[in-house]
Amino acid sequence: MIELSLAPLAKPDPDHYLNRIRVTVREDSMRWSLSIGTISGTAVRVHITFLLFLGWIFAADYASGGPDEAWTGLLFMVLLFACVLAHEFGHIFTARAFGVSTPNVTLLPIGGVAQLERIPEEPRQEFLIAIAGPAVNVVIAFGLVLAGAHLNGGALASVDSAQISMVDRLANVNLFLAVFNMIPAFPMDGGRVLRALLASRMGYTRATEVAAATGQGVAFLLGFIGLFWNPLLIFIAIFVYLAASSEAHMVALRAMARGVPVTNAMMTQFAKLTPQAHVDEAVQTLLRTSQSEFPVIDSAGKPVGLLGRGDLIRALKQLGPDARVADVMSPKVPTVGHRRCLDEALRLLQEKSAPAVAVVDADGRLVGLVTPETVGEMLMLHQAMPQGTTWGPWSRPSGAG
Ligand SMILES: [Zn+2]
Repeated sequence: MIELSLAPLAKPDPDHYLNRIRVTVREDSMRWSLSIGTISGTAVRVHITFLLFLGWIFAADYASGGPDEAWTGLLFMVLLFACVLAHEFGHIFTARAFGVSTPNVTLLPIGGVAQLERIPEEPRQEFLIAIAGPAVNVVIAFGLVLAGAHLNGGALASVDSAQISMVDRLANVNLFLAVFNMIPAFPMDGGRVLRALLASRMGYTRATEVAAATGQGVAFLLGFIGLFWNPLLIFIAIFVYLAASSEAHMVALRAMARGVPVTNAMMTQFAKLTPQAHVDEAVQTLLRTSQSEFPVIDSAGKPVGLLGRGDLIRALKQLGPDARVADVMSPKVPTVGHRRCLDEALRLLQEKSAPAVAVVDADGRLVGLVTPETVGEMLMLHQAMPQGTTWGPWSRPSGAG
């Protein structure tokens, strides 16, 4: 599976733009993960539920077949997830070939999720990135067949049985992974393959709508089958349904932001800090405003950092009031030129998981701040305007309605 560096839609109240953006930008569903190492620059993490899942498999096998069966079962699971990891690295290495950075991959009991900084809107690139994962499983399955494994559906039905050789089981499971991931629904790879194929014909936004609707149809079907066959499918169905909606929302949002100047969605009245200021001065500023993020600017007026409310309070506790803002701020502040469009700022908010984007003029001086809140307010305004209202070139919408 592939995921953008942001979480799928979590809270209800989906019609509220503020919630939609806040949830997608701020929530990190992978919080409960442990890092177990790095493979060529991509951190490999395991979710805590995955470890619990391994423990549960071990205990169940131990109870039914004693220590030998328990160790065999555990070995099988570890090998299986090595195949899942290989699948994810299929996505990761293809994405990198297109210049997309891939910060991490997380193993969950339901599979792996490779986080990509962005998913190319160029259909051919998305197609190749998406299909590379299942292709890895096909290669592994056929490699095992060449090594003497037997493929048959029966082995899959009793995949947890110790009667069938480990190699046979792994070959069958890899084939199953390839087929399962090609289900044409987000967030499965098949959903992206479908969108890429459609996008080359009908444009990206429309292709996403069609692919998302298809995915939701598949989710209903899965849920229905799950009612009669395996309740686990119902959970997968809910997951697929939410992911499909979230993907459609994100793309619609980005499409809407495309023609809008970034200056329409920035705030211009806000408090600033200097790197030399002491933390207690910053706290005074914090108390005077309701701002949650403070830009830090140098003497030339250029943004050099960001300081959040939480970080400030933490710094006060840990380092005391005399610490310098420069030592406690986050020195990474994404910036966008004041002549650019909003979709660029939106992309930065998502990709960098940044709380704010600094808007700078031609000389690099800070002129405004774009946060999820200001974007949400602007888009609500946009929605409230009559159909067909166009944005002035670089002006604010002026009381239309
Ligand atoms: Zn995949």
